[in-house]
Amino acid sequence: MGRDFDTVVLGGGMMGAAIGYGLARLGQRCAILDEGDTAFRASRGNFALVWVQSKGLGLPAYSDWTRRSAALWPGLAAALREETGVECGLSQPGGFTLLLSEAEAARRVDFMTRLQAQPGFHPFLWEIWDRARLRQVFPGIGPEVIGACHTPLDGHVNALRSFRALHTAFAQRGGAYRPEHPVERLAALPGGGFRIATPHGAFSAGRVVLAAGNANARLAPMLGLRAPVRPQRGQVMVTEKAAPFLTHPVVNLRQTDEGGIMIGDSAEEVGFDTGQGLGVMALMARRATRMFPDLARLNIVRAWSALRVMTPDGFPIYEESESVPGAFLCNCHSGVTLAAAHALALAPMLAEGRLEAATLGPFTARRFDVPATA
Ligand SMILES: Cc1cc2nc3c(=O)[nH]c(=O)nc-3n(C[C@H](O)[C@H](O)[C@H](O)COP(=O)(O)OP(=O)(O)OC[C@H]3O[C@@H](n4cnc5c(N)ncnc54)[C@H](O)[C@@H]3O)c2cc1C
Repeated sequence: MGRDFDTVVLGGGMMGAAIGYGLARLGQRCAILDEGDTAFRASRGNFALVWVQSKGLGLPAYSDWTRRSAALWPGLAAALREETGVECGLSQPGGFTLLLSEAEAARRVDFMTRLQAQPGFHPFLWEIWDRARLRQVFPGIGPEVIGACHTPLDGHVNALRSFRALHTAFAQRGGAYRPEHPVERLAALPGGGFRIATPHGAFSAGRVVLAAGNANARLAPMLGLRAPVRPQRGQVMVTEKAAPFLTHPVVNLRQTDEGGIMIGDSAEEVGFDTGQGLGVMALMARRATRMFPDLARLNIVRAWSALRVMTPDGFPIYEESESVPGAFLCNCHSGVTLAAAHALALAPMLAEGRLEAATLGPFTARRFDVPATA
């Protein structure tokens, strides 16, 4: 009996959409099943950085994978523009972590030095800029800013437009997107392939990719996989639109291509709680205005929170089930940054039915089996 699809992707967030688009580009018959509007969805509430500078301490392969994605982003944005007419708003002018004290500067230098000194790490250019040099890029910095850590690799994107472009391109290439289709059960079929059950019927597929964010924790064991992910809340605020003045993204604030300034880098361990708190928002706003005092004159027009998908060590998981080959698990917490790698490097591996060990071997969930003392 024929199967409904070559591959069914569970989860239509940025991760699932990027993978689905990548598979559809390769001519796969692919479906994306998504829970729907009441689900927890990082992809609709993120900060939209395509960020390299702080990635990979503890796992150099994560820095390589992140840099590969940053390098693939211009090609992805161009392809999506050509296929859909949607502009992703990608800008990769380099990015900054602003430093408000000598102690912050010392911590940043220590972090970057340890990052780059790791065995197997492929170094990239990073520099501490002093205040005078920084003022040439950001004339409006406040008196407390003593300098910044800079890399030329960082950037940002319009995440919602990119997300829409991925879904549009997926559909145009014949992909089947099924919202309001929460997957309830997954089972391997005796002769190979999978049965994927939703309240609106079941689907069959040769392969399945679990890209359902935090829901992977519940779904993975059905196919002999393990996804030790947890929600981590982030709060974000956006100001009214202003004339362009932030030419480069800063890790905790950035000016969007539409003019608003997004502020937000909170990380809160509150479970599945998408509430917002004035305390955290006030802290973020205070730090932002210490960096750029003129921000105090802008009104906040929207604020929200969303849940990141966090693994115990913060690195992604890419894994094929040992007991049920053809079932793949994909989780990460920087799925905007990694969207290009997911569409253009991971999807081809999934289409082949094999994750490249040299590239993705370090991201197995088996790393969590190693005792902390090892
Ligand atoms: C505040 C915040 C700031 C962030 N900032 C950045 C950033 O600057 N740069 C960056 O690279 N990343 C950032 N991220 C992370 C980024 O948003 C995500 O990594 C990315 O969107 C990918 O998410 P995802 O698709 O894995 O998960 P989600 O977006 O959570 O999507 C999971 C999907 O699975 C679906 N689902 C759930 N259960 C089921 C089920 N049973 N069956 C079918 N579907 C199901 C849901 O409907 C949902 O659409 C941020 C995240 C947050 C919350």
